[in-house]
Amino acid sequence: MKLIFEKSYEGRGNQIFPESDVEVVLPESPLRAKKSHLPEISENEIGRHYTALAKRAYGVSSGFYPLGSCTMKHNPKVSEKVASNPKFVNIHPLQPIETTEGCREVLKRTEEYLCEITGMDAMTFQPAAGAHGEFTGMLLIKAYHEKKGHHNRTEIIVPDSAHGTNPASSVMAGFEIVNIKSDENGMVDLKELKEHLSEKTAGLMLTNPNTVGLFDNNILKITEMVHDVGGLCYYDGANLNAVMGVVRPGDVGFDVTHLNIHKTFSTPHGGGGPGSGPCGCKEFLKPFLPGIRETDHGYTTEIDTIGNVTGYYGNFLVVVKALAYLLTIGSEGVPMAAKNAVLNANYMMYKLKDIYDVAYDRTCMHEFVLTLEKLKEETGVSALDMSKMLLDYGMHPPTMYFPNIVHEALMIEPTETESKEVLDDAILIFRKIYEDAVANPDKTHEAPNSTPVGRLDEVQAARKPVLRYEFKS
Ligand SMILES: *Cc1c(COP(=O)(O)O)cnc(C)c1O
Repeated sequence: MKLIFEKSYEGRGNQIFPESDVEVVLPESPLRAKKSHLPEISENEIGRHYTALAKRAYGVSSGFYPLGSCTMKHNPKVSEKVASNPKFVNIHPLQPIETTEGCREVLKRTEEYLCEITGMDAMTFQPAAGAHGEFTGMLLIKAYHEKKGHHNRTEIIVPDSAHGTNPASSVMAGFEIVNIKSDENGMVDLKELKEHLSEKTAGLMLTNPNTVGLFDNNILKITEMVHDVGGLCYYDGANLNAVMGVVRPGDVGFDVTHLNIHKTFSTPHGGGGPGSGPCGCKEFLKPFLPGIRETDHGYTTEIDTIGNVTGYYGNFLVVVKALAYLLTIGSEGVPMAAKNAVLNANYMMYKLKDIYDVAYDRTCMHEFVLTLEKLKEETGVSALDMSKMLLDYGMHPPTMYFPNIVHEALMIEPTETESKEVLDDAILIFRKIYEDAVANPDKTHEAPNSTPVGRLDEVQAARKPVLRYEFKS
């Protein structure tokens, strides 16, 4: 496909305004030395150009999108509509406080509902992403220990089934990471945990359900063990879609958590934002929360606040969408969404596991992981080949080669918003590519054959992206 600059011909641009008949004399300095390079192309062709480009983009509105680890569910359009209300859009954070009652109510009610869902006592909406929420939570834990004079508590325990952002956020907050291995069932190994707990433990960060889609049955024991040595427990709630309304992190021993509104609560994930990763905590950590907080006596910042982690109230319109979503689905809809997400994942897993190897063969939560290690050994067909074959069937591949603890991994999260018919079609396609792979392994390396480009040099694309059109003159 040609770039818009390559389609441009001098003199073919749209002339909307007549030539000015007023003589304007501008000073020399702000004027361009050279004429700007704007494409000159008719309105008709501009429309075609961008429509063709849009057709090449694949999203949840195009078809099944089973990425694991990042919930890619349909987000109701009504929430977008509510958030685009000019009364929300045109609000300014420095407006006199008495003119912002409605927006403050949105923040207050969303905090209330999300605290109810997580079992936390307070929440800040400042963090702009999940990892940012983790960072905020780690700063709360740090501030708590510093206030208590626990200066030797420098270690955060992170299981190897955690999301990659967990160790990163802990390091950013100034902690050292202690990595612990999972046992053969994908759970935290309690013996490993015990060995690594000490008076240096500041806390534990746990992703639950973890990145292999499993709920840790020892969760109560784990949080108790950490508390017993004086550490705090952080819950990575980005996977809350699987348990919301069913289990509350606050009830199973967690002191701090973050949520990914742009996964679970009606803001699309991906595309670079805006997102929101609110961080919630128990009452004893509230004095460390960032931002301005409303109290019965007006507005204040907490005494021991860690300071702002972003401007003002965070990405407010994302919070509006979360509230719209919660009010739309109600207190019955919240657990129902979680249960259907789990049901859909298990349905797909059971319909595939007679031919595919499941990494952990037990009831999964919102996602499950296939391992193609054996297939690769026997036929040379890799997880990458299988992913590329899916493209020829018009389906977006699942997450591949993640989590790292599973070899030749394909990680599938169907989400609650897919119907049985869509899942059945996807199952057929997964089964078909398996048959194709076994029957004709060599051909799989050629896939995809139906897409505008074949296999890209991903290393070059990441290291040396060509993002600018080089004009000849
Ligand atoms: C997506 C995700 C994160 C990070 O969230 P971002 O908004 O991408 O920063 C953290 N933990 C888990 C388990 C996730 O799935």
